[in-house]
Amino acid sequence: MIGACIAYFLARRGIDVIVIERTEVAAAASSKAGGFLALDWCAGTPLDELARRSFQLHAALPDEIAGDWGYQRMTAYSGFVVGDRDARRHTPAKLAWLASGIVIADRLGTPATTAIVHPRKFTSAIMSAAQKHGAELRAGQVTGIVWSADRLTVRGVEVGGALLEADTVVIAMGPWSLMAAAWLDLPAVFGQRSPSLVYDTGTDVKADALFLEYQEESGAIVSVEVFPRGDGSTHITAFSNEAPLPLEPAAVTPDPSEIDRLQAICGRLSPVFRSERITARQACFRPVTQDGLPLIGKVPQSEGAYVATGHSVWGILNAPATGEALAELIAEGVSPTLDLMPFDPGRLRPLHPPPLRSD
Ligand SMILES: Cc1cc2nc3c(=O)[nH]c(=O)nc-3n(C[C@H](O)[C@H](O)[C@H](O)COP(=O)(O)OP(=O)(O)OC[C@H]3O[C@@H](n4cnc5c(N)ncnc54)[C@H](O)[C@@H]3O)c2cc1C
Repeated sequence: MIGACIAYFLARRGIDVIVIERTEVAAAASSKAGGFLALDWCAGTPLDELARRSFQLHAALPDEIAGDWGYQRMTAYSGFVVGDRDARRHTPAKLAWLASGIVIADRLGTPATTAIVHPRKFTSAIMSAAQKHGAELRAGQVTGIVWSADRLTVRGVEVGGALLEADTVVIAMGPWSLMAAAWLDLPAVFGQRSPSLVYDTGTDVKADALFLEYQEESGAIVSVEVFPRGDGSTHITAFSNEAPLPLEPAAVTPDPSEIDRLQAICGRLSPVFRSERITARQACFRPVTQDGLPLIGKVPQSEGAYVATGHSVWGILNAPATGEALAELIAEGVSPTLDLMPFDPGRLRPLHPPPLRSD
């Protein structure tokens, strides 16, 4: 999603863009995420301006580019699931489709401040829009950066053992950006895995996002996120851990025991979440950095190398404003719409000492 958005905003300016994708468009988290968007949930953090601008862009894009990715405004609630011995166990929930004994405690967002997209459909639509503006999409795996004789200026990237010339290179490989830390001075990017289930719920589930606390038999309190989407699917996720990242994005699979755990929780939430309505049992890795903020900007000790990754839990929300701001930075040398200083890749130590660079 991050790479596709950057390609779109660059191509719209008439800049020649080639997107190299190793697996397929939206192969990883950008397909398997919930797609939830919030205007002001990053208030008081360095992400606030990025999130607000991105929320605006998400609202504007359906009128600018072709396709239907289910953008819709929604209400968001928090609540909790009461235990089996709790007196409220058989009290009907405020939302009729939920099972009894689910307490809706607070309204966290209204249609003015919260919304949702189908992330795979959005990523495909924005990539197609970039292509309509002249961007090229090529299948291939980037295996390195090729430098000019001054060892500082980018000449291009290595794809399939050959040089693909470019005067500017943007690393937007999600958690696999870690591999690029061997090619240039990049801080570490880690992958945090979460399982998710997608149900075909049709019109049985009202379009409200839910953030629910659930106490498992072990006593562990789990936060569960329920995201009904415009196409009649409902995405449910919980837990996150630091499982090893497979080298191949297509090889990311969920841990079967986590899927069983999640399915048991979903069964308690509503009779709608029956196993025969499951359309996907999946997992994905969020890209995270050491300080939890994304890396967006020019890579230190280089001419022509940029990075955009580490968006963690807000990559779908923050992709459009990342694309817009990075395109401005590349084209104009500054980003007038957004202060990118908090995301400067130079704020964190590079993972490796400066690599040996070859022509
Ligand atoms: C369960 C879950 C739920 C989430 N829900 C939300 C949500 O509701 N709202 C929200 O805002 N965010 C959400 N997120 C976060 C969001 O999904 C991510 O931040 C975002 O998708 C990251 O996008 P990306 O483009 O950086 O990385 P990715 O989607 O991982 O894409 C990286 C791409 O790079 C390609 N690639 C890798 N290596 C190479 C190479 N060497 N050469 C060529 N191509 C390569 C891969 O094939 C892949 O297509 C969620 C994440 C998870 C895991």
